[in-house]
Amino acid sequence: MHDAHEQPAGSAQDDERWMQQAFALAERAEREFDEIPVGAVLVAADGRLIGEGFNRNIATHDPTAHAEIVALRAGGQALGNHRLPGATLYVTLEPCAMCAMAIVHARVARLVYGAADPKTGACGSVFDLLADPRHNHRVAVNGGVLGEEAGRRLSNYFRAKRGKPPLDGQGGPPGAS
Ligand SMILES: [Zn+2]
Repeated sequence: MHDAHEQPAGSAQDDERWMQQAFALAERAEREFDEIPVGAVLVAADGRLIGEGFNRNIATHDPTAHAEIVALRAGGQALGNHRLPGATLYVTLEPCAMCAMAIVHARVARLVYGAADPKTGACGSVFDLLADPRHNHRVAVNGGVLGEEAGRRLSNYFRAKRGKPPLDGQGGPPGAS
């Protein structure tokens, strides 16, 4: 994706590397807690990992425990600050309205997400909260990073729930990744 603007941190390679880490967290959500596999990592302005999260709604009986919120809370604790200026949040799925507003409240500089969410996505798909000029904080948004893989992973989770076989990946043998 071409982007002429200078952005805080993050080459395309960095973005994909952090997204892979978010995939690993998403897998834990599914494997260890049977939660919807969404993962998030929060990276400080200096490139340090300061927060990780995956969906924990069911395990913690917490309707707000989306991956992004979990990662933002961890980041706040790590920095000793409720604001996270310069930070980049990576998440495997386009954030919902709750998470988009939390990102604004936290003053996150940049959001990178994988798959778009045509049902509840609030960063351009259903709502476009981060682009709303009425906020006094701007968040740079880069969607679709490893988006195809992110979408396939989520589709396969829901397919498995319905007893359907997984969609093919890149043609590699199962379990090769
Ligand atoms: Zn959310």
